[in-house]
Amino acid sequence: MFFRQLFDKSSSTYTYLIASAKGREALLIDPVLDNVESYINLLKELDLKLVKIIDTHIHADHITAANELKNQTNCKTIMGDQSPADTVEIKIKNEETIKLDNLEIKALHTPGHTSDSFSFLMNNCLFSGDALLINGTGRTDFQNGSAKDSYNSIFNKLLKLPEETLLYPCHDYNGKKVSTIGNEKKFNPRLQVKDEQEYIDMMNNLNLPEPKLMNINVARNIKLGAI
Ligand code: FE
Repeated sequence: MFFRQLFDKSSSTYTYLIASAKGREALLIDPVLDNVESYINLLKELDLKLVKIIDTHIHADHITAANELKNQTNCKTIMGDQSPADTVEIKIKNEETIKLDNLEIKALHTPGHTSDSFSFLMNNCLFSGDALLINGTGRTDFQNGSAKDSYNSIFNKLLKLPEETLLYPCHDYNGKKVSTIGNEKKFNPRLQVKDEQEYIDMMNNLNLPEPKLMNINVARNIKLGAI
């Protein structure tokens, strides 16, 4: 398997490039519009054909490259079936599988950060979007977010995965690139709660500022980044 973790500095977003091998078909998870040129160059360099793009959810803090990459490469766009984006070609259901050559990527509906948030599991790698972060969890105070749903997605779904599962989130603001489910269970401060209510109370009292350009970004991302 070929795998690369790419980073967008201005939004601290991780984008994941996956392929069965160099010279084969490729998939991108959560690509950022500002980096289209570098993705195209990287695909050329590695002789990869981009066939699929997944957005884990409608992002508020950056604009997705999905529409632009689709225009340039004719790849298919994928989101979970709760996505409000009408132009997504494949709306995947919970537990459905995406195929890429011999690789299989399983979709898991993990609402909470947003109602449309999905995570994606490939072998022992979990691409969690903003559902579960390293030492954190995705905020739940906009885009139909719900602290109760977040608790349920994390505690009753993601933390049930084997402890050695590698966690690759959509963002990290402290330079951390990967964790494991076991590590997060033990050390993630948001997960050290005695019950659901304690988690809900904590999430509902974070009082975070709105992301810069949130309204513009969300409106663009509902159109997969098109103007
Ligand atoms: Fe997000």
